[in-house]
Amino acid sequence: MSDQFRLYNTLTRQVEPLVPVQERHLRFYACGPTVYSYAHIGNFRSFLTADLILRTARAIGWKTTYVTNITDVGHLTDDDTVDPSGEDRMTRALRSKEGQRFANVWDLARHYTGALLEDWQTLNLIEPDVRPRATEHVREQIRTIEALLSQGAAYETPQGVYFSVAQYAGYGKLSGNLAAEALEQAVRNVVLDEEKRDPRDFALWKKDSEHLMQWHSPWGWGFPGWHIECSVMAQAYLGETIDLHTGGEDLIFPHHECEIAQAESLSGRPFANHWVHTRFLQVEGQKMSKRHGNFHTVRDLVAGRRVNPLALRLALISGQYRKPFNFTFATLRDSERHLERWRNTASEVERTAKANVAGKDNLGTSLEEIYGHMLAAMLDDLNTPLAIAYALDGAKLIRSRLNSMSRASADSALQFLDRINDLLGIVSFGPVVGTNTLDPIDTTSGAPPTDNGDLMVGNPFAKKVEALIAARNAARQARNFERADQLRDELLALNVEIRDTPEGTTWQRKSQI
Ligand code: AMP
Ligand code: ZN
Repeated sequence: MSDQFRLYNTLTRQVEPLVPVQERHLRFYACGPTVYSYAHIGNFRSFLTADLILRTARAIGWKTTYVTNITDVGHLTDDDTVDPSGEDRMTRALRSKEGQRFANVWDLARHYTGALLEDWQTLNLIEPDVRPRATEHVREQIRTIEALLSQGAAYETPQGVYFSVAQYAGYGKLSGNLAAEALEQAVRNVVLDEEKRDPRDFALWKKDSEHLMQWHSPWGWGFPGWHIECSVMAQAYLGETIDLHTGGEDLIFPHHECEIAQAESLSGRPFANHWVHTRFLQVEGQKMSKRHGNFHTVRDLVAGRRVNPLALRLALISGQYRKPFNFTFATLRDSERHLERWRNTASEVERTAKANVAGKDNLGTSLEEIYGHMLAAMLDDLNTPLAIAYALDGAKLIRSRLNSMSRASADSALQFLDRINDLLGIVSFGPVVGTNTLDPIDTTSGAPPTDNGDLMVGNPFAKKVEALIAARNAARQARNFERADQLRDELLALNVEIRDTPEGTTWQRKSQI
């Protein structure tokens, strides 16, 4: 199997092999969310790119060390400009109508961090090895700023400490903003500190004794700049040179350009060898925004509209990360159908396997070949549409053989479904075989498990549904059909459809899309 993993590198502007410094051990950092509100599906499309890189690297036997942060201070409202002005996003959120329900900015950060972790699980993303918070790494950031100052790469003004761009020759190499002229032009209007030496210089530390989140530093009370957080946390956990750094396309400039400048000025070595950026997602052909009424958080869709979380995941990865991506409800409906296909295939194969029919395995080789194509697609700059097409082909082939399937072929089929799940995370939460026994609820109804995305450990909705099903089954056994019908109506009111099968009762949420 080829283990050449090719990805577009923003730094070199070409698709090229990802080459870990330590052979077959990928160490990478993905820019995480700013936790001032619930994450939206655009944020998650970027996080999913990192997730797919992780899964693909593991599929070819690489070891991975994956760090993704939580930005809980320092990301200002105008951070798309090189030296931003504006409020800290956390502070602004606290002042908003929704923010007013929190006692302070720390509670707000805690709430949205918790929500992020839930959404992360909901969309079946692999947990990182480390998820550092910027507020827990301020000491390291201060030390790095001190080192930059003593090296002459930074200077202090009454308002803050700035990185001096003029002394770093590589500034602009990632974003292509090479012409200092153009850059200066672009930032001229936003320069607020008259004592800055060069309009391109950006803040490493902002002096502000009024700020809601502040730390004591050699330069007085204040808070770190957003760019210094990420390069410091990446290097703290992964070393001076990392293999890969990822984020959404908006981060190329200034965030990642500034990260490179800080890190490389200090170490004199490359900061990240490979840079991968996810193209922004649009919704129904328009920029996603509250104003257009097309702004979707993960929880709006999953909890509000009852979208199956795995179908949402599938929809979000259905377009290659580097191509313009238009999220539509039609795609979401297609994804629900595809998901259904894999799941039905899995449960039918499991049934066939139980029948234990003797015979040869006449499926394994073809499925192995299909999986090989799928993996090759992922290794070719994460070609997810092609990989998904192969995963559907595999399911089709399996279904065409269900009638006369031997135990050996059934085992190959289940293995195939497991492997596509490992690679894309779209069939179930965890391994396909026996997936759905995650929760003790299965034993209460005596029903075969139904993996509809609700069966995550401790999911209160699933618990409620399973309890109602158990009560209904008990009523039916007691021949109290009136009560049983009442309970079925209660389930329907929860938007849950049930099916009585010879093996027991299965259930599914009715999607509202
Ligand atoms: P933020 O919470 O704003 O710091 O963003 C977290 C991540 O989501 C960053 O990598 C952003 O680049 C990315 N991101 C934000 N909006 C979108 C979008 N519409 N499509 C794809 N990625 C996005
Ligand atoms: Zn970052």
